[in-house]
Amino acid sequence: MAQEVRVRFAPSPTGYFHLGGARTALYNWLFARHNGGKFILRIEDTDRTRYHPDAVPFLLESLRWLGCMWDEGPEVGGSCGPYYQSDRIALYQQYAEQLIAEGKAYRCYCSSERLAALREQQHAQGVKPGYDRHCRHLTRQQIADYEAAGVAPVVRLAIPLEGETAFEDRLRGRIVVNNSELDDLVLLKSDGFPTYHLGVVVDDHLMGVTHILRGDEWLASAPKHQLLYDAFGWQMPEHVHLPTILDPSGKGKLSKRRQRGPGQEDQLTFIHEFRQAGYLPEAMVNFLALVGWSYDSETEFFTRDKLIRYFDLDRVSKSPSAFSYDKLQHMNAVYIRNLGDNDLTNRLLPILRAAGFKADFGRVLAFAPLIKERLRLLGDAVDMLRFALVDSLEYPTEDLVPRKLDAATAREILARTRTVLAALPSFQHAVTEAALRELADGMGLKLRDALGSTRVAITGAAVSPPLFESMEILGRECVLARLDEAIARLG
Ligand code: GLU
Repeated sequence: MAQEVRVRFAPSPTGYFHLGGARTALYNWLFARHNGGKFILRIEDTDRTRYHPDAVPFLLESLRWLGCMWDEGPEVGGSCGPYYQSDRIALYQQYAEQLIAEGKAYRCYCSSERLAALREQQHAQGVKPGYDRHCRHLTRQQIADYEAAGVAPVVRLAIPLEGETAFEDRLRGRIVVNNSELDDLVLLKSDGFPTYHLGVVVDDHLMGVTHILRGDEWLASAPKHQLLYDAFGWQMPEHVHLPTILDPSGKGKLSKRRQRGPGQEDQLTFIHEFRQAGYLPEAMVNFLALVGWSYDSETEFFTRDKLIRYFDLDRVSKSPSAFSYDKLQHMNAVYIRNLGDNDLTNRLLPILRAAGFKADFGRVLAFAPLIKERLRLLGDAVDMLRFALVDSLEYPTEDLVPRKLDAATAREILARTRTVLAALPSFQHAVTEAALRELADGMGLKLRDALGSTRVAITGAAVSPPLFESMEILGRECVLARLDEAIARLG
């Protein structure tokens, strides 16, 4: 029987969950689902100096929002827990002890002053900086002296002094490094906490991880991990280092911090910001899947099921891909357009309410078909529907007077419009449209010009969702009241 695929996403909670992390998580999730395997979430929180208390809650919420639910990890548990590394400290210490006992690791008592002086000396001599293995062959007596003096040691891996270390990256092939290039890396810090290297290797092994998909900034760590796997006598999982995500210009790495784009617009970076701005999770997932993977050269739209069906490591690209905010926005607009009215309404309500409106379901539902085609982001609905959700409109009175007309004519149009609308047998949009068309004709005006004042009076803006349909939803009473107010404003 083939081995069950087990992958993990192992973020360090040092800040908000960003695009790069989301792409890594998504690829792991897709790979697990494609193979009927398990997706593990592990929190690598042993670096307490960089710990950010908001990181985990935002991460969990964002993963749920993206629909990348983990099979094992925080909140859901699992048979390989705990899934927070800070709850596994004793384990790392035990494995470090084992390597020391086997002569594969050693305690290093060098002070930070000594290490700094060493670096300075190496710098002055123009040689590659690195630990000189001073403590690798201490005598029993020397060790006893350090211990008696109360020096807290670190634990270092005793790297083979000769030979080379090789591992296979699924995308990049065989990667070989000379052991002489590598330092005796620290496994346990002097406070007894593991370094990333020890934690990641012990946990990936104990959690039965079969494939490691992670960002390519970790490529240089892989030979060190190979040496650790060798030291433990464990089989290293298959490695796939995912391509770098570049910023939209394609020139630099996409930043993990929020940046200003060329047009001085904020370039969103964190997943919760995309959510707040009104991106749909299905658009985010579809788009992120294509940052570094493709099915063929054309297809751009994939349902989640299709992504699961097609996702395949052989189609992950080696070369970096630029992140295009424009394309994401375009894709989001298409996804919004394809939502059913009820669905769209349910997604708009929280955003409209967060913006301070007492938005009611029926009202927003009625407007959904009118605005669907115009939304790039759900958040665009805030300005688009303001007029439909507030009791009284705010707009500068001069906006009631279109450029081609004067105030007296604008007032005249509004007054006549009011009279016509008040007398109509029905307020259906086809009826009001025919009536106002006739009115414009009678006044020798183009409909568009005649409607300028009316649109501002009713929606507070010169650009709005389709006016007659909007009037029908607002209802005659509201429309007439708004016209009255506008007429009064024009004196
Ligand atoms: N904790 C590391 C990070 O923050 C995990 C790297 C890995 O996946 O091995 O990305």
